[in-house]
Amino acid sequence: MAYKDNPYRTHSDGELRRENVGETVRLAGWVHRRRDHGGLIFIDLRDRWGLTQVTFHPENGEVFSRAEKLRPEWSISVEGVVSERPEGNQNKNLPTGEVEVEARSLTILNESVTPPFEIERERDVDENLRLKYRYLDLRRERMRENILFRDRVVKHIRNYLSERDFVEIETPLLTASSPEGARDYLVPARLYPGQFYALPQSPQQYKQLLMVAGFERYFQIARALRDEDGRGDRQPEHTQLDLEMSYTTQKEVLDLVEELYTEIVEGLTEKRLLEKPFPKLTYAEAMRRYGSDKPDVRFGLELQDVSEVASGSDFKVFRGAVENGGSVRGVCVSGLGDLSRKDIDGLTKVAALGGARGLAHFHVEEDGTLKSPVAKFFSEERQQEIKARLEAKPGDWLFFVADSDAVVFASLNQLRLHLRDRLDLADKDILGMCWVTDFPLFEYNADEDRIEPMHHMFTMPREEDLALLDTDPLRVIGQLYDLVANGTELASGSIRIHRPDIQQKVFDTIGIDAGEAMRRFGAMLTAFTYGAPPHGGIAPGIDRFVMLLRDEPNIREVMAFPKTQAARDEMMDAPGPVAEAQLKELNIALRREPEGDVGANPASTLAEGNN
Ligand code: ASP
Repeated sequence: MAYKDNPYRTHSDGELRRENVGETVRLAGWVHRRRDHGGLIFIDLRDRWGLTQVTFHPENGEVFSRAEKLRPEWSISVEGVVSERPEGNQNKNLPTGEVEVEARSLTILNESVTPPFEIERERDVDENLRLKYRYLDLRRERMRENILFRDRVVKHIRNYLSERDFVEIETPLLTASSPEGARDYLVPARLYPGQFYALPQSPQQYKQLLMVAGFERYFQIARALRDEDGRGDRQPEHTQLDLEMSYTTQKEVLDLVEELYTEIVEGLTEKRLLEKPFPKLTYAEAMRRYGSDKPDVRFGLELQDVSEVASGSDFKVFRGAVENGGSVRGVCVSGLGDLSRKDIDGLTKVAALGGARGLAHFHVEEDGTLKSPVAKFFSEERQQEIKARLEAKPGDWLFFVADSDAVVFASLNQLRLHLRDRLDLADKDILGMCWVTDFPLFEYNADEDRIEPMHHMFTMPREEDLALLDTDPLRVIGQLYDLVANGTELASGSIRIHRPDIQQKVFDTIGIDAGEAMRRFGAMLTAFTYGAPPHGGIAPGIDRFVMLLRDEPNIREVMAFPKTQAARDEMMDAPGPVAEAQLKELNIALRREPEGDVGANPASTLAEGNN
């Protein structure tokens, strides 16, 4: 990189090579490591681009004695001459490893107190400490590389879409509620006492309105804000590649995204794609084969339906499940070896995570007979049939769950994922991408006894199912599609409703009458009356994709400033209480005093007159 008239550096710390030997250069950065050896001081100087070794010689008295004070993470600038490292001192692992800079002068730009954890070495550090000092955590190689990689992915996305005539358009953060199945974050409107903006759960409505506006191809690297209970690997805000197209089809959206993802995986990573083109499974097929609508397709252990054989058996649990409209399904597992009682109990607990009240197990003996506490309930013929269905071989274990389909699927999915990890069945260098399509448009929420959209309420039903909206909405299939990788959902999208009459029908089905619909979604419904074009889109999550590509265990590792799992920003100490004056200005009276040390860090700066 060329630095012209820069007082701190002529080169970055990653670029000097043998060709530069003899040049006088200036470098800046942090003291990464310091070694005193044979009367010399060696510093590894670090910046974003790399490390360069700098040497201080005692002959250079004043500079040497200042160098003696240097400690890790001090920010310095050095001027010196590039020289070849003596034979034996070269470092092949470092791009700059053939040279060093013999310092002639040293400027200490800023000292550093001792950091709360080492920057130089990758060690396990308590995550809350890392997040509190995120700016230091981000200096560490792993995090720096993650963030730089993420930038490459986003740049690739921008280029790819811009080459295809997509327009990047920003949509508001302060807006009205756009539901995606989570709670809204609300912002009190000072000018309208008692009223609130909602932060967007996604730009869904705006992007559809941009289609009505005629932009045809829109995208945005957008923040989606969802107030969810700290579930697993969720973040209050995450980033999506939000995109939308007019006059499009499901196939066109899928092809566009598939090509983009293939380019990113093959161009920016060492990972391999399991299958190209990505396999397409309908929702029904994904559930039937894997018990999940986000299947990990890198390994087998597919579910087998034995309801028919089971229903005629003498085993009440199996028979009962089928009689009650449920099913009996199982998996055949090789390579488990002998399992103790305790092992089986452990697996039963895994299945219970999906709701199973039991896990029937059979072992295939050397002579082919089935051994199980419940084998006696199955005639020889039925046993043969079960074995044949599951293609069981001697030494295999067969596990079955009998319950409602939902419980059977969820439980066997848990078991399958557990066995994947236990038996190391999935290669982590492979990305098993697939599309899941044809989701039901609605699902039944038994707790609240109502019908809800499976994804969101703007999805177009399949053409042939339109009539079912009135008669049997739960059977309507939506033009919905998800992109899944290694058992993780990466993207959801759909072809949208563009006609007000169909939109209102969907609203009616989920209990939103015309009045309420107009109040909540008036802009969309009105816009649809102005010749809204057919349109559709998708919103791949960026954090999760980058996480997978970097082999990170959670999305926090690929976000510069994530919240903790408890949804706090430890660094900025947010959320925090605000000054009384600010509450007053917002016309807000608290029903409950904030918990904890209220005075410690009022989020408000109003009291200091800084508004
Ligand atoms: N808005 C949807 C979401 O955030 C994605 C889409 O349908 O484009 O999940």
